[in-house]
Amino acid sequence: MNFNTRLLHEGVKKEPYGATFPPIFQSSAFAQESGEDLAGIFENKKMGYCYTRVANPTITAFEERITKLEGGIASVACSSGMAALSNALLNILQSGDEIISSASLYGGSIDLFRDIEAFGIKTRYVENNNWEEIEAAFNEHTKVVFAETIGNPCLDVTDIDKLAEIAHSHGVPLVIDNTTATPYLVKAIEHGADIVVNSSSKYINGSSNSISGVLTDSGHFKWTRDKYPVLGDYIKYGPFAYISKMRSGLYRNMGTCLSPFNAYLNMIGLETLGLRMERQCQNAYELAKWLDESYPDVTVNYPGLANSKWKDIANTILKKGYGAILTIRVGSKKRAFEVMNKLTIPYILSNIGDTKTLVVHPASTISLHSTPKELEDAGVYDDLIRISVGIEDVEDLIEDFRNALG
Ligand SMILES: *Cc1c(COP(=O)(O)O)cnc(C)c1O
Repeated sequence: MNFNTRLLHEGVKKEPYGATFPPIFQSSAFAQESGEDLAGIFENKKMGYCYTRVANPTITAFEERITKLEGGIASVACSSGMAALSNALLNILQSGDEIISSASLYGGSIDLFRDIEAFGIKTRYVENNNWEEIEAAFNEHTKVVFAETIGNPCLDVTDIDKLAEIAHSHGVPLVIDNTTATPYLVKAIEHGADIVVNSSSKYINGSSNSISGVLTDSGHFKWTRDKYPVLGDYIKYGPFAYISKMRSGLYRNMGTCLSPFNAYLNMIGLETLGLRMERQCQNAYELAKWLDESYPDVTVNYPGLANSKWKDIANTILKKGYGAILTIRVGSKKRAFEVMNKLTIPYILSNIGDTKTLVVHPASTISLHSTPKELEDAGVYDDLIRISVGIEDVEDLIEDFRNALG
């Protein structure tokens, strides 16, 4: 089956009363027939639900669909993309460990990496796809490599196959943030990623009606007690070591669960992920091409443009489109604000992946707390506008940008 058919039919279970959609189990706890039954669930000896902070049938339905789409063995859905990312990394790290990360990152992830320094976890930033610099960053403390499929907002495309190869040659896993690409464009696990994180607040939900995140384990990485002592006795679960420790560990104990209602909203969004991505990527391509051809004084950054630095990697990694985000440099901060304020269709807000087109001035918002070096690495400039392209009729978007740019 192909992507859209799978979205609608794969792994769909028979629901009560013939319902065509999983019900919302808006219940905090789940009663069992006997004390023994409840004890069995707590001891992981019996299938079943006890408390929504640990697991919930509506959330499970969402997790199972994401697992299928990403091609992993299991997923854990969290209260936000940041919760999913924190869990994905902290599940295997302890004080003294180091992360090697692409420097081209979502601002929130940079902030998180700064926060966890207080717990003795250090991040070494490297230029994305700079293999010599990446090789040189490894040492005996390195425990994980991290990058985004398409860096937000730099829009550099990561050669995941190559990065996975390097990580594995040093005996560490690769964690990929696939938010900007989604499993529609890239299945990072097929390219060698071990753990995939998606902020499902964005394209997966699609309509910006709930914050959530989800992480998926490929089950491929061979965890060892020597290198990852925090996995402890979970090592005995083999390919399920990582995900078992997650669900019984930080996910449960820090309370990062998703609400069942938000899982339900995400499942509604998921049904149209393919349709939306197809349209959004097409719109982004047409808008980028038109801007690039029409305005010599505007610099357009989009991985699908022939002049993009990342076109070649994009062509090997992204099979169905080049993503739905582009950035433009308009000459000055003043003009950036003027253009944004003159636009009538896009919302001015700091989000991506909505059905509606969104614009933001990253330097004064999402990247406000970044250092000059971090801004440079993230490709953020004072005159830069990020555009998250929606599913509108592209002629209307072009007309709106024509009026705003003058
Ligand atoms: C939005 C975003 C996140 C964080 O997700 P939240 O759901 O907002 O917590 C992480 N990574 C990327 C690339 C994002 O765009």
